[in-house]
Amino acid sequence: MSGGIVVVGASLAGLRVAEALRGNGYTGRLRLVGDEHHLPYDRPPLSKQVLTGEWEASRTALTTPEKLAEAGIETVLGARAVAVDTEAVTLADGDRIDYDQLVVATGAAARTWPGAAPDGRVHRLRTLTDSVRLRTALADDGPMTVVGGGFIGLEVAAAARGSGLDVTVVELASTPLEPVLGPELGACFTRLHRAAGVRVLTGVPITSLQETPDTVAVRLADGTELVAAHVVVGIGAKPNNDWLAGLGLDDAAGVPCDARGRAADRVWALGDVAVWEEPMYGDCARHEHWTTAVDQAAVVAAAVLGRESGRPPALPYFWSTQYDVNFQLVGRPDLASSVHVLEAGEDGSDRGTVFAFTDATDRRVAVAAFHNPRRFLRLRRDLQQELTTAPVRR
Ligand SMILES: Cc1cc2nc3c(=O)[nH]c(=O)nc-3n(C[C@H](O)[C@H](O)[C@H](O)COP(=O)(O)OP(=O)(O)OC[C@H]3O[C@@H](n4cnc5c(N)ncnc54)[C@H](O)[C@@H]3O)c2cc1C
Repeated sequence: MSGGIVVVGASLAGLRVAEALRGNGYTGRLRLVGDEHHLPYDRPPLSKQVLTGEWEASRTALTTPEKLAEAGIETVLGARAVAVDTEAVTLADGDRIDYDQLVVATGAAARTWPGAAPDGRVHRLRTLTDSVRLRTALADDGPMTVVGGGFIGLEVAAAARGSGLDVTVVELASTPLEPVLGPELGACFTRLHRAAGVRVLTGVPITSLQETPDTVAVRLADGTELVAAHVVVGIGAKPNNDWLAGLGLDDAAGVPCDARGRAADRVWALGDVAVWEEPMYGDCARHEHWTTAVDQAAVVAAAVLGRESGRPPALPYFWSTQYDVNFQLVGRPDLASSVHVLEAGEDGSDRGTVFAFTDATDRRVAVAAFHNPRRFLRLRRDLQQELTTAPVRR
């Protein structure tokens, strides 16, 4: 065999694993294959600084052609992997790329509203192209409806409101983020957005979304009709692993891996596409977190070369910025059976509040801070230590 290591998915996880392979002394052939035409770029600013206009799109670049050339990382861009077998990856144009070891870093794709035209007034936000298109839409001045009160929907709402638009967020659950963080934290986000002038409608399903050349009408089950210039759909993402059916790794939940990212013989996966075993929690999970992709890249690069990463697994960590509020989360709130306030905010305000999530056995499984970075830093360290020393047994 002579294909060397092939990394499919040229974004955060793919780039970081390729760099770490070189950093670990791998000198063989190394190819980074991606379906986008851009070199790897960073996604968090797409719903923040790029959208608000604070950053030029080019500032999201994670690398340069010079750095890639220096590291001996070959790029194959604009190339979509459509199939795979135990020897090679097949691209959409029919080319086959042989591999000795395959690293899957194909991330996740934003779920879309059925029937929405790709270049119309209904937007999604996953790529640089999406973000630049949406930024243009924000300059339109017309009202905006955000479908889905998850992190991306709320960050878009904050950016749109910051641009002076009339913004409505529609969320099916009882509060934004309730399915992820529970109703207590969801209520903090509701208050934050309402205080900024966003209309937040919850608990009502959408029955239809109708686009005309100038508007989009969102109809709700209670009869409300919201007419906007643009609609942003933020209803989650699904892992990009359909192309892995040839290896039996196309499960809708993501690519199942062990705690070092091994999915099959000579096949590894990481980042948003991967479901890793999490020994500290005694189960498996997929995270759409920037830091998880970076942490896993170090582990996979070592494992592909037959080494240990030398560090205990890191806990999942996520942050979000909305207006001037910084939110941080560490751990697994999905395993919690209760949430309580660990530290109240200043003067009864939500700002500064720290929440602890505990499971049915009263073990702390996650901690979140609503604009309290200093306190969070300490709690994150403590939780990491607690779970490394005594993992949760399930
Ligand atoms: C708008 C936005 C804001 C975010 N904000 C935050 C934040 O504030 N905090 C945080 O922790 N996380 C945030 N995230 C999540 C974070 O960006 C992701 O966890 C991270 O990008 C995951 O990296 P990845 O490389 O695994 O996947 P991705 O970044 O999705 O990259 C996968 C790459 O593979 C390509 N690909 C897919 N299928 C194929 C194929 N068949 N063949 C070839 N290439 C393919 C994709 O086009 C893409 O380029 C945000 C994400 C988005 C979209």
